[in-house]
Amino acid sequence: MKTTVLFMKKIKVENTEFFIETGNALAPEFPLKVNNPEQLKLLDVYSGSDVRLMLVPSFFKIDYGNLYWLFWIDPKTSDKINEKITHNTFTDNDFLNSVKTFYQITECSNCKRKFDTLIIPPGDPYPGNPKLLAKKIGLSKFQKCPACNFGLRQMVVKIIGEHKKSDSVMSDNVVAT
Ligand SMILES: [Zn+2]
Repeated sequence: MKTTVLFMKKIKVENTEFFIETGNALAPEFPLKVNNPEQLKLLDVYSGSDVRLMLVPSFFKIDYGNLYWLFWIDPKTSDKINEKITHNTFTDNDFLNSVKTFYQITECSNCKRKFDTLIIPPGDPYPGNPKLLAKKIGLSKFQKCPACNFGLRQMVVKIIGEHKKSDSVMSDNVVAT
């Protein structure tokens, strides 16, 4: 079995604790196994500077964590984030514009086209700061179908592009909206 090592650092911002990718080869502070490695498939379709890999320790399974993509609503505010994380000089302000998202293939219920997207998982609060989810939803702009302008029923914050790969690769991760 192939093992992928993620270089991440534990941080606390906005009263919530999680691991975030460091952008350099620091050893992980302690290893966690990952519940949902399929999230790494975003790397096949996107590598923009407005996302960072995030790992949230599992509430139910000790030694496990769940991967998310921390997405910056205003990408300019994520410019120096790797450096700030490495040197512990970040503040809550650097994360104000960020929101915890999942990578997912979203299908438009009107035109049936499929898109690679980042969505806010509903009902998935931040550990230690349950009110933060509602605040982030309030800050976010939700995207419509880029092909037909129909409203997508999920909280889609970013449309990366039309999904091109065969469905068999990620069939269990496709959600129709
Ligand atoms: Zn559509």
